[in-house]
Amino acid sequence: QDGIMAGKRGLIMGLANDKSIAWGIAKALGAAGAEMAFSYQGDALKKRVDPLAEKLGSDIVLPCDVSDEESIDSLFQDLKTRWDTLDFVVHAIGFSDKNELRGRYVDTTRANFNMTMDISVYSFTAVMQRAEKMMTNGGAALTMTYYGAERIMPHYNVMGVAKAALESSVRYLAEDLGKDGIRVNAISAGPIKTLAASGIGDFRYIMKWNEYNSPLRRNVSIDDVGNSALYLLSDLGAGVTGETHHVDAGYHVVGMKAVDAPDM
Ligand code: NAD
Repeated sequence: QDGIMAGKRGLIMGLANDKSIAWGIAKALGAAGAEMAFSYQGDALKKRVDPLAEKLGSDIVLPCDVSDEESIDSLFQDLKTRWDTLDFVVHAIGFSDKNELRGRYVDTTRANFNMTMDISVYSFTAVMQRAEKMMTNGGAALTMTYYGAERIMPHYNVMGVAKAALESSVRYLAEDLGKDGIRVNAISAGPIKTLAASGIGDFRYIMKWNEYNSPLRRNVSIDDVGNSALYLLSDLGAGVTGETHHVDAGYHVVGMKAVDAPDM
């Protein structure tokens, strides 16, 4: 994989720490020769993101709160002072009130529904509005989703509804931006223990269930996601757009397991 991203420049959004899915993706892209800029939300995260960016040879670390249009504008203005063009964007951002990531979906409040949709869905479209203008040689964008978009998963609730909308927006964005040679895809990752995941009720149980019931009988790592992201963001994925690609040890293809199936 050496060098397949050589000469490509991209923006990584959603890095919080070295457990983040964004970190798994950035490592794989960096190893393949990509040059990257990083955005972070809030001053508290800057001190974590700075050293990680440095490890991958980047000194472009910029603030951005995706719920704020001006903040997204200033991110891209800052980026333009460093780079003329952009080849890829990784959007690994999601948020909901953790009090509503447990219990019943039907109890979701209007305020949290709107906030969850705004930060977890609309932000990807808002980012692509700006990124499109810098992707003058074509490009590739990737967002992160979860199987809770397609099937009921315990406690995922409003986040499942948001991910369904995000996957749909990937298809619409793929059509709009395809004319300019910009590809838009999503990875549907299996459960991974990250900061965001710790807000979801019974998350350890969800991980165990996935481990026992997936065809590979294991959970996926941020490196598994990173390597698949490399395929989708590099020219290896040149013919792929509008896709939701599952990186979940095969969990999504299972209807039911035989009584003796789990190798426990
Ligand atoms: P994480 O906590 O490491 O990353 C989430 C990121 O979202 C953080 O960097 C946070 O700062 C950022 N964020 C939240 N609100 C923001 C805002 N208003 N503006 C800018 N950034 C904001 O957790 P993660 O699991 O790596 O999450 C990355 C993505 O992967 C999310 O979309 C998540 O839903 C998705 N995902 C996670 C799993 C899992 O099991 N961990 C599985 C499938 C999909």
